[in-house]
Amino acid sequence: MKLYEQQELFIYNSLSKTKEKFAPIHDGAVGMYVCGPTVYSNVHMGNCRTFLSFDLVYRYLIHLGYKVRYVRNITDAGHLENDGESGEDPILRKARIEQLEPMEVVQKYSLDFHNVMAQFNAHPPSIEPTATGHIIEQIRIVEKIIEAGYAYEKNGSVYFDVLKFNETHEYGKLSGRQLEDMITNTRELASQSEKKNPQDFALWKKAEPQHIMRWPSPWSDGFPGWHLECTAMSTKYLGNNFDIHGGGMDLKFPHHECEIAQAEATNDESPVNYWMHANMLTLNGKKMAKSTGNNILPHELFSGENDVLSKAFAPTVAKFFMYQAHYRSILDFSNDALEASEKGYYRLMDAYRNLSGLAISESSSFDVNEWRQSCYDAMNDDFNSPILIAQLFEATKLINAIKEGKATITENDLSVLTTTMHDFIFDVLGLLDLASEGNNDTSKLSGAVELLIALRNKARADKDFATSDKIRDDLKEVGIQLKDGKDGTTYSLN
Ligand code: AMP
Ligand code: ZN
Repeated sequence: MKLYEQQELFIYNSLSKTKEKFAPIHDGAVGMYVCGPTVYSNVHMGNCRTFLSFDLVYRYLIHLGYKVRYVRNITDAGHLENDGESGEDPILRKARIEQLEPMEVVQKYSLDFHNVMAQFNAHPPSIEPTATGHIIEQIRIVEKIIEAGYAYEKNGSVYFDVLKFNETHEYGKLSGRQLEDMITNTRELASQSEKKNPQDFALWKKAEPQHIMRWPSPWSDGFPGWHLECTAMSTKYLGNNFDIHGGGMDLKFPHHECEIAQAEATNDESPVNYWMHANMLTLNGKKMAKSTGNNILPHELFSGENDVLSKAFAPTVAKFFMYQAHYRSILDFSNDALEASEKGYYRLMDAYRNLSGLAISESSSFDVNEWRQSCYDAMNDDFNSPILIAQLFEATKLINAIKEGKATITENDLSVLTTTMHDFIFDVLGLLDLASEGNNDTSKLSGAVELLIALRNKARADKDFATSDKIRDDLKEVGIQLKDGKDGTTYSLN
């Protein structure tokens, strides 16, 4: 019997605004699509939070025994400024500034993204399609929407006719926006546009002469509108109706609202059964964003090189910090909160390691099965990781009590406790044990770097700065950053 047959998972659906019991379309299999990054700059910690929120979802579904097809795209074309509607393409702008081919920009930041996700120990998706690899599919959808009467061509560009669509469908049902309000808010801009109505959105844009990422189409040499790629790629790999679609809260409107409209215009069925939106990571109370510069980059966190940080933090500690908040709550980033999480993380890992040395008794002073179920209950309640972590800390207290002879556990219960701790810490939360004394490469590397730090400290004490600087610089060359803080020297990998 699979775990999903024993556990009842509830997911908060942003469309119905309620927690709904999860039932996949096909028994035992889940299709999940998550909007990926627009690759024109390094991902910041805010982006990472959203992707890690969905890594948790993916991992828990796998843990429950589902066969999951997880599709997460790379936006490498068509995402203009102003919610993808007008202005410059940020990839082209970056290419111009850095004197690179647009595809070099795309490659550089896709690699950064993959590297960062690997450092966070996030699973790669099952399929990672790109917008530029699916131009033909996107053109086909534009044709279908035109055939269905919900789009019109103007000067080589094609726009989605929102008012027409709204006569028979409900535009705004995901974001809760009323079309009347949208019309009033955007009225002044209407005359400057070739659109029939300002709330219409681009499906295909004719390329200006300087716009070098362009493809031939029945309407013009141009490029697809941003919302179209996700409709094309999600339905291509998951079908016209699939289980879960995720993304950050800021994508609800217009991006996901437009995705629903595009899909319903061609299929007359709702594309997604469960819409999930992850909340924002803030810095100084404001949303972390690429454009405003109000952000922290992963490598700054891992090296401690940012003024808001007192020291370096390991990726797994940062991830633990993020999972101490529910994915639908806003989370403010701060050095103090990270330090508190780091302490908690080590407390948890110490307890896990202590499990193997616990004494066995005739009886248990704790109902381990009830505790185990409470871990599942937390995750079954819309992936409530902070409650799960609180339960893991309950177990930590128990482990410490057994160690001190203040509580007892039977052999059988210890086995359940150990397996459950392992499942949730490593498989579901995807944490790494930084201090593991085992034989893994991380601990070997850590031992070697600690040795070099000790040699450097010795050289510094002997005023042999040539040697101490060489150790620091050579380590940096191979991607290991030393950071001197008030509590000694720490290191991070870049
Ligand atoms: P982008 O590359 O801008 O398309 O963003 C990639 C993903 O990161 C999207 O799902 C966004 O919703 C999400 N995102 C952007 N800023 C933040 C933030 N401050 N906190 C959490 N998620 C964010
Ligand atoms: Zn998308």
